[in-house]
Amino acid sequence: MSKKRRFIAHAASPMANGHGAANDNIHTNPCLSCGACCAHFRVSFYCGEIAGEDGNGVPPELVSQAGPLRACMKGTETGGQRCVALRGEIGKEGIHCAIYPKRPSPCRDFPAWEADGTPNPDCQKVRAKFGLPALPHIGHDDDIDPGNTPRHRDSEAA
Ligand code: SF4
Ligand code: SF4
Repeated sequence: MSKKRRFIAHAASPMANGHGAANDNIHTNPCLSCGACCAHFRVSFYCGEIAGEDGNGVPPELVSQAGPLRACMKGTETGGQRCVALRGEIGKEGIHCAIYPKRPSPCRDFPAWEADGTPNPDCQKVRAKFGLPALPHIGHDDDIDPGNTPRHRDSEAA
């Protein structure tokens, strides 16, 4: 499965003028004060990821149908809009995914950095759209969380 979310063209952001918020976690986990990818991409996935009676999976009330076997996070159907599960203000401390342990695979598979420490170019582009600073290259000794979308500080890792 591709690690990249599907890119959808969108209108310019009101924050694209470079007046984005401070990004204090940029060297540890930039996702904790970002959330840009959750307000930009169309987040679609196989419908088998939707929770069944056991409750394991993406909550069904938060998804819309995107095809015979495809689902999409509500709000992201056309791209350029916030996911319904995103809480907080883009680029600000405290932004997080309300269903972090149950988020779908495109969210789990979208990294801030590649395995070699290179910033994910798609992450960089969407951060720039919201006026957030570029991520640095990182070394193997850096104490960082590789990220992939904004968890709440109290969220169970998943
Ligand atoms: S993966 Fe990139 S765009 Fe998404 S929240 Fe983290 S830093 Fe922001
Ligand atoms: S990580 Fe959460 S808020 Fe972000 S797109 Fe995925 S489900 Fe939505």
